[in-house]
Amino acid sequence: MDIDLSSPKYYSDGEGDQPPDDLLPHSKRAPDDIFLTHLNEVYNRYVDRDQHLISLPKGYTMYYCNLVIHGIRQSDGFRSTHIFGHPKGSYRCWKQFAVHVASIVKGDLENCACSLCVEREPPDLLKKGEKEVKIKKEELSD
Ligand SMILES: [Zn+2]
Repeated sequence: MDIDLSSPKYYSDGEGDQPPDDLLPHSKRAPDDIFLTHLNEVYNRYVDRDQHLISLPKGYTMYYCNLVIHGIRQSDGFRSTHIFGHPKGSYRCWKQFAVHVASIVKGDLENCACSLCVEREPPDLLKKGEKEVKIKKEELSD
């Protein structure tokens, strides 16, 4: 079965991000046809063998990023692939990205079980939220 993720019936949360500034000079965007080929390989392996994605989910991009090994940025022979676009970060693991794409196909991003969707808020953000609540309570008691 062909799935056209460019169709409006598939909602994507992709934000079209590119690598962060410090990584950008060491990154190269992969052509979309190569991104789609990789995505179909993992999608068929981990999600559904019988579904064929004929377009990419909106707002997601694949980059080759030069690795840092022992603190040294490597040459182009040592690159890893990253997928950008998720509101909470980037994927290095294709399997996790395939899980997320499956949620887009199902129209069920709210219950997505990929590593980025289930990640909790960073602890410092939570603390900040608690502080704000406390201040508000004090203001109310005055
Ligand atoms: Zn997800």
